[in-house]
Amino acid sequence: MKVYKFGGASVNSASAVRNMADIVRSHLDNQTLVVVVSAMGKTTNMLEQLVPGVNPADQHPALLQKVKDYHHTILHDLFPSPQHPVYNAVGQLFSQLQQQNSLPPTDYNLDYSQTVCYGELISTTIISHYLDSIGLHNQWIDIRTLIHTDNQYREGNVDFTATQRNVDSSQLRSQPLVVTQGFIAGSADGHTSTLGREGSDYSASILSYCLNAESMTIWKDVPGFLNADPKYFPDTVKIEQIPYNEAIELAYYGASVIHPKTVKPIQNKNIQLHIKSFLNPLSPGSVIGPFPTIHPLTPLYIFKKNQTLLSVLPKDFSFIAEDNLQTIFAVLAKLNIRVNLMQNTALSFSLCIDDNPMLLNQLRDNLQEQFLLRYNQGL
Ligand code: ASP
Ligand code: MG
Repeated sequence: MKVYKFGGASVNSASAVRNMADIVRSHLDNQTLVVVVSAMGKTTNMLEQLVPGVNPADQHPALLQKVKDYHHTILHDLFPSPQHPVYNAVGQLFSQLQQQNSLPPTDYNLDYSQTVCYGELISTTIISHYLDSIGLHNQWIDIRTLIHTDNQYREGNVDFTATQRNVDSSQLRSQPLVVTQGFIAGSADGHTSTLGREGSDYSASILSYCLNAESMTIWKDVPGFLNADPKYFPDTVKIEQIPYNEAIELAYYGASVIHPKTVKPIQNKNIQLHIKSFLNPLSPGSVIGPFPTIHPLTPLYIFKKNQTLLSVLPKDFSFIAEDNLQTIFAVLAKLNIRVNLMQNTALSFSLCIDDNPMLLNQLRDNLQEQFLLRYNQGL
């Protein structure tokens, strides 16, 4: 059994869906396949604007229409007959979305997940029908019945025990081809939860873990795991093999190629993770696995925008040593500020954090009695 994950860019148009179907077909030889799919294109961004309370209600019809039009263009191209049952199935999902979207705002995180989940529900409904229509018979599964989280609706923590139990008693293993949603899950109290933006990679990894998959593949619009983001650097090098721990470090510190939570579950089961190009499916891509070092050995670059560089200097005669560091870190932890980079000398502690004027003020309020603070923003 293998698990494939297709992200938004790999299913953002009718021709992209056809390409994705070709990839599925060419890898189906007596192999069972679980296909995890994200929302099409930038649908999640659009749906975030439809969460009750985010925008004035009078803007909702136009916003909703944009989401509908986008999917209908893809539908009409893939299913020329207006009688095709997919129209009814997708129509029902749109009605539910509209209903959800017209409710008065309650808790933002709760409203968020009940709204944005329609991106994945709609994309997988379209894709499942399309695969069927070209002879790739498949089972559509509502992942919310399998992956369970706590009640942190917007960035749910996965309950692996419940999820494993659900997967074991599901049809996942007995079906040759399964199509299901990334990113969304079921909360402990029976609502929809989500796993955090770009969380579909993590969904695929959770399923790979529970199914003891032979391997997992993420199909991307880049040739593999590159040593830098090609959006910012012209001469990137593709890394062919990456040790699990190195991949976790890179993803945690901002390599956007995979979601940071993706690697740990598959590492625990020693499952290899392939990153391959959906534009060039025959090229080998990159593999994350039990390798001793990166191959080829080359420097890796993380590029971050909107950073604040902050230097913290003791006001008294003390050095930046354990006691002062303890004070600084206690404040950072209390305010939930993530440090992206840090350095200390005898007289100063420097750190990079994401720009956030409100948190920076709170940090200053907490530290300025004991320390002198210097900072630059927008780096
Ligand atoms: N559709 C979700 C997002 O855009 C999840 C994902 O793409 O992985 O964040
Ligand atoms: Mg995505």
